[in-house]
Amino acid sequence: MHTLKIDKLTVEIENKIILKEFSLTVNTGETHIIMGPNGVGKSTLLKTIMGDDNYKILSGRIYYDDIDITNYKTDEKARLGIFLSMQYPIEIEGVTNADFLRTASLSKDKENFKLYSLIKDIDKNVNDLKMDPEMVHRGLNVGFSGGERKKNEILQMNILKPNIVMLDEIDSGLDVDSLKIIGENVTEYHKNNESALLLITHYQRLLDYIKPDFVHIVYDGKIIKNGDNKLVNVIEKNGYEKIIDDYLKNSKTDIGEK
Ligand code: ADP
Ligand code: MG
Repeated sequence: MHTLKIDKLTVEIENKIILKEFSLTVNTGETHIIMGPNGVGKSTLLKTIMGDDNYKILSGRIYYDDIDITNYKTDEKARLGIFLSMQYPIEIEGVTNADFLRTASLSKDKENFKLYSLIKDIDKNVNDLKMDPEMVHRGLNVGFSGGERKKNEILQMNILKPNIVMLDEIDSGLDVDSLKIIGENVTEYHKNNESALLLITHYQRLLDYIKPDFVHIVYDGKIIKNGDNKLVNVIEKNGYEKIIDDYLKNSKTDIGEK
């Protein structure tokens, strides 16, 4: 079993504090869903975990098992088996998808790398994800539609086989068929590889395919409420207002008591 532990992380961007002593522990075999209004810092959390140095960690630590990875570079984190599919996957002109997958696979496990197995693995997954095989030889995400980019991220996950899988709004921009393909593929991957899933989503529809163990609502830089799948239905029906009101009332009393 592996564990990703986020311990009282405070993160700043452009002189603005986004996460305030944010804590969360995720074990392999578990599925966690992060929800919350726009702009509360959900993407910031995942990008900080992955080592995006635009985000400045003011205090707190990140651990992978017993290793303090707070200051690890993104590629070192990737080699440990941490993976992030970004909300807006970027285009990289001049690097084909195939090149990218080969380089990443090589750098992850040079000793066991076999080009033939990689090609077979790519073929199988392109087919499973119902992607156009020709995309493998195009520039990374160059000219890809939103949905095609999301599928390409899931292709990378399947090839690189991370054990901590973070997906930022993987369901945005997907048509119903692609949503089903990706939802089922991620669930299958999670079962076969005993990964830890940490997903950001706004909608129940993704959770028709991926069953969460834990649901966390983020607001004011931290998790303000924990629950299970039922919490998603509550939010779908009533929005975040009541949960936020309750949180604000409680935090006011806290201050009053101090
Ligand atoms: P969420 O994913 O919850 O919608 P984000 O983590 O993307 O929110 O953003 C949290 C806050 O940080 C927002 O107010 C956003 O404008 C700000 N922010 C994020 N990235 C940057 C950046 N690169 N430069 C300036 N502000 C940023
Ligand atoms: Mg976001």
